[in-house]
Amino acid sequence: MLRRPSQVVENIKDDRIQQLIDSLICTVQQANGVGIAAPQAAQSDRLFIVASRPNLRYPQAPNMEPTAMINPRIVASSTETVKDWEGCLSIPGIRGLVPRSRAIEIEYTSRDGKLHRQELTDFVARIFQHEHDHLEGIVFLDRVESTHELMTEDEYQQQFVKLL
Ligand code: ZN
Repeated sequence: MLRRPSQVVENIKDDRIQQLIDSLICTVQQANGVGIAAPQAAQSDRLFIVASRPNLRYPQAPNMEPTAMINPRIVASSTETVKDWEGCLSIPGIRGLVPRSRAIEIEYTSRDGKLHRQELTDFVARIFQHEHDHLEGIVFLDRVESTHELMTEDEYQQQFVKLL
């Protein structure tokens, strides 16, 4: 399922879609994630949740309301890229250094059916690009440029996370 491209969501008001959104928000919060895409819950729908907030896995994450982004599109990307460490709830125990565009212009429909267009930068732009990849069957490991840019979650925690 993680390797399969997802299908456009035709009817956002459908009960199955609305329940899927609720269940993804619940899962991402319980797992200390900052984003989750439908294929990670074995559903082939073009939608994901961006839910940046500081937590044990990403202590420096900015705080935002969990937002369902349906039929999301990247309209434009900055040529400037930044490398940072990513992990994935579907690939536990490993982190990889992934280059992403620093800024992107995006479009998505929210769960109430409204179309949104906005610019995202830095960490939130990174989450969007990671989740958008899931809808194309791509995982972050595909974008790691060298095996030297992989480490275990334990190593990552020891090096980068200052425990309170
Ligand atoms: Zn992921």
